[in-house]
Amino acid sequence: MRNRQATQLLCDLSHAGRRAAEYPASDVPDWPLEDLIPAEFQAKCLPALPELAEPDVVRHFVNLSTLNMSVDTHFYPLGSCTMKYNPKRHERLAGLPGIVDVHPHQTAGNIQGLLELLYEMQRMLAEIAGLPAVSLQPAAGAHGELTALFVAAAYFRDRGERRTKVIFPASAHGTNPASAAMAGFECVELKGTASTSGATGGGSFVDLDELKQHVDHQTAVFMVTNPNTLGLFEKDIAAVAKIVHDAGGLVYIDGANMNAIMGITRPGDFGGDMMHYNVHKTFTGPHGAGGPGSGPICVRDFLADYLPGPVVRQRDTESGDKRFELATPSKTIGRVRSFFGNVGILVRGYCYLRTLGAAGVRSAAEQAILNANYLKELLADVLPSAHGKHCLHEFVASADGLARSRGISAMDIAKRLLDYGFHPPTVYFPLVVPHAMMFEPTETESKATLDAFSEAIHKIVTEDGELLHTAPHTAPVSRPEEVNATRKPVLTWPKGQLVPINM
Ligand SMILES: *Cc1c(COP(=O)(O)O)cnc(C)c1O
Repeated sequence: MRNRQATQLLCDLSHAGRRAAEYPASDVPDWPLEDLIPAEFQAKCLPALPELAEPDVVRHFVNLSTLNMSVDTHFYPLGSCTMKYNPKRHERLAGLPGIVDVHPHQTAGNIQGLLELLYEMQRMLAEIAGLPAVSLQPAAGAHGELTALFVAAAYFRDRGERRTKVIFPASAHGTNPASAAMAGFECVELKGTASTSGATGGGSFVDLDELKQHVDHQTAVFMVTNPNTLGLFEKDIAAVAKIVHDAGGLVYIDGANMNAIMGITRPGDFGGDMMHYNVHKTFTGPHGAGGPGSGPICVRDFLADYLPGPVVRQRDTESGDKRFELATPSKTIGRVRSFFGNVGILVRGYCYLRTLGAAGVRSAAEQAILNANYLKELLADVLPSAHGKHCLHEFVASADGLARSRGISAMDIAKRLLDYGFHPPTVYFPLVVPHAMMFEPTETESKATLDAFSEAIHKIVTEDGELLHTAPHTAPVSRPEEVNATRKPVLTWPKGQLVPINM
């Protein structure tokens, strides 16, 4: 087993009397505890805390941190999640005292520098989106979706229109229907067009005829990811938007895949009325393991008054100085997050955009597309991709052929990749492709890494089936989700340790 010490708990490592620091004796007279804390609030017994020296604690946590794969340690082609490299310089900049030491209750006059940064971030996001009004508040992509749907609901309520439906394609990310349901809408799912290549999966694109059948005066929003979760640009997006707009509905662009189109085309230009960004994906905020994220939304000007506050505005002064202030839109849906959103992630995104500039942003997208197409070609003989010849920044391959011929599942390949030192791709999503394996290499990977990854996959698919079914063999925890009645459990939890029993 790798790194045995890291799988022990702190209480297992405890030694009575060990300390990380010694303090001088108190020179404050001892007060009887009863004088400070009434008897009924005093703990009946003290918790048994582990007793450790500082190096024990440091080693424990550093070792623990190496049990997980991360962008800093491994290639991480997790489709849809855009696990690109997180530049370390951003950490230093986001840690500057003028940013981390700001108290959220400081007055606007007191934090002009930070407000200017957030104002410029709003403007850059608006420019890349082609949508003028921005709220930086939402804390993640899903939160942005929910916020935008509340904005849409407020807009229709204001117009006296009763619209109850949100429509999305079957390839949509699960957060789309979840957000729609949470915002109180009825969810309608479209099947999409049949497969373009005659291969395994359907649902490549929005089917205009199917869309027309469902769009009516009750349609509030059509939500679509573009490029979609198959890594394909919705080629009829303008026609899609026209159908929705003609019926009085709004088009929401799920911007999680902006890494493919930033600087090349803009949601506002191809018919979107609202969108969210995932700053933690597209603009290099470190993510994984649940956050923190940042999911700003951009909307058309007729929706601006409904945005959550505060938004940052620039005011001209008589002296010609720039002044920045916080404003609440006139018909705001209210707040969706405390203060200004997850500022630390917004600062990292700001640094990224300022570092790359307009040309760099476009070139990052182009490089991401090139890398994805290169990897797609490398893998095509063993993991054919179901949809078309070219992809954008990601592609969905299918292990269906291997499943049928050799009984190897997408999950088997994914788990075995861990043994080879690669984070697996996204598997079994989108749902429209059987045994889906969704690869997103991102622009920050080299040709050598992609070649090595392809070599590993080619080796894995020739390996013994049982070896694959029981993988991973080097991770501290094997397949916890595989514990069921028909299979030998692969995970047990002896006291204080995580032990894979198939090792
Ligand atoms: C990641 C993702 C989301 C949700 O974003 P979070 O920031 O994880 O909440 C929505 N849609 C798509 C297509 C995504 O990839």
